[in-house]
Amino acid sequence: MATPAEISTSARARYEPVIGLEVHVQLLTTSKIFCSCSTRFGAPPNSNVCPVCLGMPGALPVLNRKAVEFAVLAAMALNCRINETSVFARKNYFYPDLPKGYQISQYDKPLAEFGWVKITSGGHDKRIGITRLHLEEDAGKSLHEGFAGSSESTAIDLNRTGVPLAEIVSEPEIASPDEAYEYLTRLREIVLYTGVSDCNMEEGSLRCDANVSVRPRGQKAFGTKAEIKNVNSFRFIRDALEYEIERQIAVVESGGRVTQETRLYNAQEGKTYSMRSKEAAHDYRYFPEPDLLPLVVDAKWQTEIRGTLPELPELRRQRMVGEYGISGYDAQVLTVTKTLADQFETAAKAAKNPKRVANLVQSELLGRLKARNLEIEQSPITMQGVAMSADLVESGTISGKMLKDLYDLSFERNQDFPTVYDQEKPQQITDSSAIEKIIDEVIAANPRQVEQYRAGKKTVAGFFVGQVMKASKGQANPQLVNELLSKKLES
Ligand SMILES: [Zn+2]
Repeated sequence: MATPAEISTSARARYEPVIGLEVHVQLLTTSKIFCSCSTRFGAPPNSNVCPVCLGMPGALPVLNRKAVEFAVLAAMALNCRINETSVFARKNYFYPDLPKGYQISQYDKPLAEFGWVKITSGGHDKRIGITRLHLEEDAGKSLHEGFAGSSESTAIDLNRTGVPLAEIVSEPEIASPDEAYEYLTRLREIVLYTGVSDCNMEEGSLRCDANVSVRPRGQKAFGTKAEIKNVNSFRFIRDALEYEIERQIAVVESGGRVTQETRLYNAQEGKTYSMRSKEAAHDYRYFPEPDLLPLVVDAKWQTEIRGTLPELPELRRQRMVGEYGISGYDAQVLTVTKTLADQFETAAKAAKNPKRVANLVQSELLGRLKARNLEIEQSPITMQGVAMSADLVESGTISGKMLKDLYDLSFERNQDFPTVYDQEKPQQITDSSAIEKIIDEVIAANPRQVEQYRAGKKTVAGFFVGQVMKASKGQANPQLVNELLSKKLES
């Protein structure tokens, strides 16, 4: 059989991948979805548990109102239709980290459906449909390392059991690993803006499973899909999909059949491996949860929740491009988190000239960050610092050159602009008599160049400007220097 690396480009071009993503987002409630246990991450194992989340016989679940509000808010931000009545269902399966023997989820009557996320693909806008968003409880966690005796046994931590999750299922409309990456980035951004989850992948508050199949281009029917589970970064998901698509094409090209199975991605090797076959597909025997009433989110409650919906990133970017005259790319950078966008806008509005703040971010800040491989959140210069520097240039207190030097110092010392400015206190010389005095000295010291200038070699002016700036230690106002210098040289 051909290995993925050996598939020819022409063979690849004959197939198209079909990708669907299932994203689990942990909702930021302080207590669990069906009991009052804390959801705090990092608590000692099995300390945040009670009879309900331990699945003791007879214990009854009580739905957390906040979890519902958060899920509805996320669904609205993702353009979903909210179903006024949804139904919790038992998903039955046995697993050591699932003490009840079933998970409370939603099945045929989910909380929300028919949403979409806008992505950019190959320079064009594209909508990826969201099939459904439903509420469910998380399972516990099996621990294979990090405790005494871990070499011969596995331990179970049930702190996570019953933590509220929103599961967001996309339509199989994602056509490439790059689109998958873009979809996840936009989805995460929107959820972060709503504030219902911190989407922290390291702590497991955002998890993603990918379904992928290939089919000959133009064919309507889907190929057999494989599911890739437990990949812990968007980049790895893109890489895993890349590998898996090539693997499946190689199988089909050599006359084989893709098996329906769950596969795990090994990031070190950049390969996926079969974990278990899905030939004997799980039958979860879903049935309505008898201990919970149908969930009703009526029109009044929906309106209340909709009222708390913040301005979402896409619209915010459009507004910022218009308001501050920045490029779409810069708007993207400045809205990467809601906090940053808020800081930028507060600073820009407080500054004398908001556009100058935006310009400085583009021209002075982003380049320095990129050169040092820093994210904007790691910048030594805060947005308030940028605003202050913009005002100083605006009022003529410092020149553009001084600002650049101060920014360099900020990055060198890892200190914010106001601190460095305080230490350096550079003053621009705007007093014409002081500048004239320097010009006179420079002219007196360079009689040969004065002669050249007066003989018609006007380019010598540049030499004089340089000398005057040097003599003033870069502090003379360049515009004044130019003006006064040409006056003196012409006389
Ligand atoms: Zn509990």
